[in-house]
Amino acid sequence: MNDIYFDNSATTQVSELAASAALQAMRLDYGNPSSAYSKGVAAFHALNEARATFAKLLNVDSDELYFTSCGTESNNTVIQGIAKTAGKKAKIIISAIEHPSVYEPVKQLAALGYTTELIPVSGDGIIDLAALGSMLDEQTALVSIMHVNNETGAIQPLSAAGELIRALAPQALFHIDAVQSFGRLPLNLAAWQADTLSLSGHKIHAPKGIGLLWLKKKWNLPPLLLGGGQERGFRSGTENMSSIIAFATAAAECYQQLDKHYAAIAAVKRALTDGLKEKNIDYALNSPDDTNCAAHILNISFPHIRSEVMLHSLEAKGLFVSAGSACTSQSSKGSRILTAMNLDPKHIDSALRFSFSRYNTVDEVKAAVDIIAQTIEELALVVKLYKAKKRK
Ligand code: PLP
Repeated sequence: MNDIYFDNSATTQVSELAASAALQAMRLDYGNPSSAYSKGVAAFHALNEARATFAKLLNVDSDELYFTSCGTESNNTVIQGIAKTAGKKAKIIISAIEHPSVYEPVKQLAALGYTTELIPVSGDGIIDLAALGSMLDEQTALVSIMHVNNETGAIQPLSAAGELIRALAPQALFHIDAVQSFGRLPLNLAAWQADTLSLSGHKIHAPKGIGLLWLKKKWNLPPLLLGGGQERGFRSGTENMSSIIAFATAAAECYQQLDKHYAAIAAVKRALTDGLKEKNIDYALNSPDDTNCAAHILNISFPHIRSEVMLHSLEAKGLFVSAGSACTSQSSKGSRILTAMNLDPKHIDSALRFSFSRYNTVDEVKAAVDIIAQTIEELALVVKLYKAKKRK
C-alpha cells in the first residue's frame, strides 16, 4: 500500500489542473504584469482573471482582493494595519483558539502596550458569544475570529458574532481567518457581516506561498510591504503569477463540486471513527460533534500514548497524521488550542489530528485503522515488557 496522507490541514497535494496551470505560467506565459509590452499585458490580464475568479467565488468586488504570499501575511496585514491606525488605546479582540499567525502578532501588540482580549471557548472549542458580547465596546478596533479551527475543525458561529459586533461595536473591523474553510465549506461573508478575510492556497491543492486578502473598500489600512506599488499600492512585490493562477484554478475546482467533495470527505471521516469502534480501539474525541465540525478534521486521543510516539510509530508504517497543527509540531508544549478548551492534560498529551482531502478514500481508512490497531498493540507490548523488566 502507498503512503496514507491524512494531514491535509497542514498542506495538500497540488491538483493536476493547478500544477499544469502553474507550469504554463512559468514556462510560457512568464511576463511580469507590470511590463508595458504585450507579454506583460497578457500577464496583467491573467492576473485580473484570477482575481475575478475569487471575486465570483466570494461574491465580492474584484478591487477588494489582494494577492499576498500566504495566509500568515494576510492575517498580519490586517492586524499590523489596524495597530498602526487605531493606536494603543483601541481594543483588539481575538478568539483564544486563533492560529499563531493571528495570536502571535496580537501577543506582540499586547507586549507593546496595546489593549488585547481573548474570547474564551467551550469544551468543544466554540467561542463563548456571551463573553464576546461583554468585551465589545466603543474602544474596539478589531475583532478577529477564525471560521474553522485548524486543530479541531470546530466551526465558529460567525453570523451570531457578526450580529453582536455590528450591534455593540459597529466601528470595529471584523476579520475572519478562513484558511481552513475556504474551498471546503461554503463561505457567506454577507451573513457574517465581515470586513476582511484571509485565505491560503496550499490548503486547497494549490502551491505553498500564495495567499489572498479580501478587504472592504471602506477600510483604508496602511500596507505591510512598501515598494513597487503592485496590487494597487497595497501589497508591493512582483506578483507570484504561477501560484496565483494555480490558486485560482484550484479554488474553482474545489467549488465546482463542493457538495460532492464534502460528502466524500465526511464519509472518509465517518469510516475512521466507525472503524476504530468496530475494532474496539479506545479513543477520546477532542473535536466537536459533526454538526459543529468541518468534515475534513478529526482530533482524537488514544489514552496513555503520547502524541509524538504514536505519530512516529504510525509514520513508520506509512500513515501520516499530525500532533496538533503543523505550525506547533516543532514545539514540545501541549496544544494552546486544546488547553484553551480546558481538556484533560492527559488527552492533550496524546492528541492527534487526522485531516482529509478529496484525494483520500475509504479503502485508505480501512488500512489506516489496521495500522492504528497494530501500533497500539505493539506499543502496549513494549510498555508491558518495560514494566516486567523494572519489576525484576
Ligand atoms: N490560519 C490558519 C487557520 C491556518 O491553519 C494556517 C496554516 O496552517 C494559517 C492561517 C497560515 O497560512 P499559511 O501557511 O499560508 O501562512
